[in-house]
Amino acid sequence: MRKDATPLPCIAVESLTGCAGELLVILENLDKLLPFVRVSSFPFAQSKNDDGPVDIAFVEGSVSQPHDLEKLRNIRAKSRWLVAVGNCAVWGCVQGGACAKCKVTDMLEAVYGKSSEIQVLEAKPLDAYVPVDVKLSGCPINTTQFLSVTASILKDHLPYITHKPVCLECKLRENACILIEKNLPCLGPVTAAGCGALCPSMGAACYGCWGPCQSPQMDAMATILTEKGYDAMEVINRLKTFGAPDHLFERMSSETGREA
Ligand code: SF4
Ligand code: SF4
Repeated sequence: MRKDATPLPCIAVESLTGCAGELLVILENLDKLLPFVRVSSFPFAQSKNDDGPVDIAFVEGSVSQPHDLEKLRNIRAKSRWLVAVGNCAVWGCVQGGACAKCKVTDMLEAVYGKSSEIQVLEAKPLDAYVPVDVKLSGCPINTTQFLSVTASILKDHLPYITHKPVCLECKLRENACILIEKNLPCLGPVTAAGCGALCPSMGAACYGCWGPCQSPQMDAMATILTEKGYDAMEVINRLKTFGAPDHLFERMSSETGREA
């Protein structure tokens, strides 16, 4: 409670089907948030959790099981702001990409056998089921972006999140372009910024873990990669690993005559 007796805003940090990467990022940064918020629910980090209304709910993971969906609907109903954190929640990520290629029932049978009673859904991002106020990409999310977005929401402002490509951040860091100078298959031109161009800054090609940027020029990316001797479809399939939706690849597929 603050000196003026105004209660602190409440936050909840919840998880559906994911790897807990975003939960760890939030946990690591909790000391920076605690002067400004009360954590009413964070089952990953505390044993006493309150199920009441919250100002902000951060939700990690995709909706992949019936109880994920029930949980998500309850979270939406009790939250002023719903923030999808990480690529599973924003794009569906690896499990969403797998479901786009194979039938869920076939995968279930392959892993658990024909007589399994386990129930799964086709893995989908949060906004396939409920309205989402803010989407924070990343695998996992970036600390600076998470804290600045949270600060904006606490002031009741819709946060600014760039949808420009990684190349923008790469140029701001004055990196030499490894796609041009080293012929590495860097997907920075079609990947959303937010990571601070982490991989190219270390001399490694971006493999698209932030998901696609706004209006990615997939066909131009395919042309460049092909000119450099790469199998463009194989390289760009990496983007699908992180859940990029099929329609982004339609024009590429028709131009190359291959399916991404
Ligand atoms: S290294 Fe990659 S991210 Fe950086 S400018 Fe070149 S293509 Fe873009
Ligand atoms: S793969 Fe690309 S988007 Fe992911 S951290 Fe590396 S540079 Fe950033």
